[in-house]
Parts: sequence; C-alpha cells; structure tokens
Amino acid sequence: MKILISNDDGYLAPGIVALAEVMASIAEIVVVAPDSNRSGASNSLTLDRPLSVTRADNGFYVVNGTPSDCVHVALTGLLAEKPDLVVSGINQGQNMGDDTIYSGTVAAATEGYLFGIPSIAFSQVDKGWQEIAAAARVARDIVLRRFDALQKPYLLNVNIPNLPYEKLGKVVPTRLGKRHESEAVIKEQDQQGRDVYWIGLVGAVRDAGEGTDFHATAHGDISVTPLQMDLTHRAQLANLSEAWV
Ligand code: MN
Repeated sequence: MKILISNDDGYLAPGIVALAEVMASIAEIVVVAPDSNRSGASNSLTLDRPLSVTRADNGFYVVNGTPSDCVHVALTGLLAEKPDLVVSGINQGQNMGDDTIYSGTVAAATEGYLFGIPSIAFSQVDKGWQEIAAAARVARDIVLRRFDALQKPYLLNVNIPNLPYEKLGKVVPTRLGKRHESEAVIKEQDQQGRDVYWIGLVGAVRDAGEGTDFHATAHGDISVTPLQMDLTHRAQLANLSEAWV
C-alpha cells in the first residue's frame, strides 16, 4: 500500500511526524506538507506564483504553499504513481461541524478525494498535542480497516479525543454537527495607530445532538464522518425549479 501524507500545521508539526511514523509501519509513505502553518487555508490553491518543493532532513517534501497545493503537486507532478490512500493531519485541534469548511486538514484530504483517491483527515479534539501517540495509533487502526463496504473514493473526517489509547471509546459513524456563527473579530492598533483585526474564535456549538461528531467526541468516542463535495442544495433546487414554471 502507498500512502500520501499531508497536513495544514506545517511539516514540523508533531501531528504529521507521529502520523508519518505509524503509516510507515504499514505502508510505503511519501510526505508532502506546507513549509509553515496554513491552518484555515481551506481548499485554496496558489495561482499567483510558482511553488517550490524542497526536501527536509527527515525526507519530507516541503512546499511553500497550502495543503491543497501540496496534495495537488504530489498527485500531478511529484509522484510516479497514484497512492492508494491520502491521509492528512494529525491536526492540532478539532475539525467538526462548520470547522470542516475552513479546515486545511480536511482540504488536503479533499484534494486526494477529488482526484479519485480514498482520503482521510485526522484531527485531535483539543490543542496542545496531548496523547498524540494514541491518536496516531487510532489513525493506524482506522487505515487498516480499509472500509470495504464504502463506495470509492471515500472522504472521511476523523476526530480523536486527547485520551490515552486505553481510555478511548469506540469508533462512531457520525454526521457533522453545527456551530453558531463565529465570535466577533478582535480589534487592535498596529504601530502606526491603524486599526487591525484578528479573526475571532469559532462559534459555540449549536447542534451537538446524538449522532453528531460533537456528541461522539464529548463522550470519549472517535468520530468518523463521511463527507461529500457536491454543494447542491437538492430541496432548494426543486423550489427553484418550481418558482420558474
Ligand atoms: Mn491546523
């Protein structure tokens, strides 16, 4: 099995180092990751300049671009053969509910999925890298399941509570929950006395009901949400069609 690995926290992040280590124990791996932290990059591609690829001491390929750039360059220019799987992460912090829209971790996996390759995004629920070895072990367990019952390609979004391996609950199939809108921006003044704005925190959870990713991880379980990329609102399409006759 050949696995392509990327992330959005950058090639030096403990999450991708741990993920690469466990994946190397079960597969042939290539790591292609951003040179810096590109969390929140979503699915953006760099179109206003060329990308460079360098090789780090540990063998990781490093791209001066976004997570989507990394997977895109790997699949269309760097790799001689298509991988069997793309994995992304392990992200520092949860990617649940509406987070998935902005996530570079999910985006790296999505890029693989859009090229027809089964892809999995992994995130730890809390920031700080506590129990990253346990999360990596979970990632390995999940990859080894192979999900024969799923349509291919699949795109899975996995969130893992920061718990020791023995304390982790079961793997639970979930749907995305929902958050309230984000907190307000944080206004500051720069050295010239001009107003500048930091994007604020994500909103509080609005739908964390049973069956959601929020609900599963709050109970110590590992959340696995199958994602799709067709943004069409089918019910609204019917309404729209009706409105036009
Ligand atoms: Mn991140």
